Amino acid sequence: MFIQNYSKLRQNMVETQLMRRGITNKKVLDAFYKVPRHLFVSPEQRFKAYEDFPLPIDHNQTISQPYMVALMTEALDLIGDEKVLEIGTGSGYQTAILAEIVEHVYTIERFEKLSQDADKVLKEPGYNNISIKVGDGTKGWPEKAPFGGILVAAAANHIPSLLLEQLAYNSIMVIPVGGSREQELMVISKDRQGNITKQKTLGCRFLPLIEDQDY
Ligand code: SAH
Repeated sequence: MFIQNYSKLRQNMVETQLMRRGITNKKVLDAFYKVPRHLFVSPEQRFKAYEDFPLPIDHNQTISQPYMVALMTEALDLIGDEKVLEIGTGSGYQTAILAEIVEHVYTIERFEKLSQDADKVLKEPGYNNISIKVGDGTKGWPEKAPFGGILVAAAANHIPSLLLEQLAYNSIMVIPVGGSREQELMVISKDRQGNITKQKTLGCRFLPLIEDQDY
């Protein structure tokens, strides 16, 4: 069988999909060089793991396109000493990227099976700065708040107020907001006084963020 040279594919992904499209943050690029994306998809999808599109995972969900993961991570403007909250663990790939950069990642997924699988994959490289739980991420993780960054990897029709409350001063939340077919990636900043500014960036397509009441 043809053995893929994954590190070469990874390098190629970083150069052609991320750098060429304007991702410059060194911490973000280094994380992408490092995290073995092919381990976060099923064996049948592995040969496509470094391609420029999302891929299916269990429960009809997807692992986001590499560029989107990079863009959202870069938008958080992380220094490295933060605790970050991620909503929508999915495959765990975005979680690993964040864990390469920050002090601790708290991640919430509503499907138990996805959460368990992600937990398994993430344990292998020995990440010890990730906490995973199953539940409705729109409620956040109040016991661990405030967070120095919040990344929502599913499409919201409004900005969940509990997440905004759990965002630390001088920190950023990134969240796709809009309808079920398409959304705008919003970058929400809370300044040192607690004032909020919302900035619409590019259009995107995520699977829906499902709140408890929608189940
Ligand atoms: N970041 C993931 C992409 C996940 S896709 C990756 O790189 O693989 C979006 C995920 O959000 C799905 O797994 C979905 O089950 C989850 N999700 C949707 N609504 C949620 C909610 N309210 N709380 C937690 N997770 C949710």
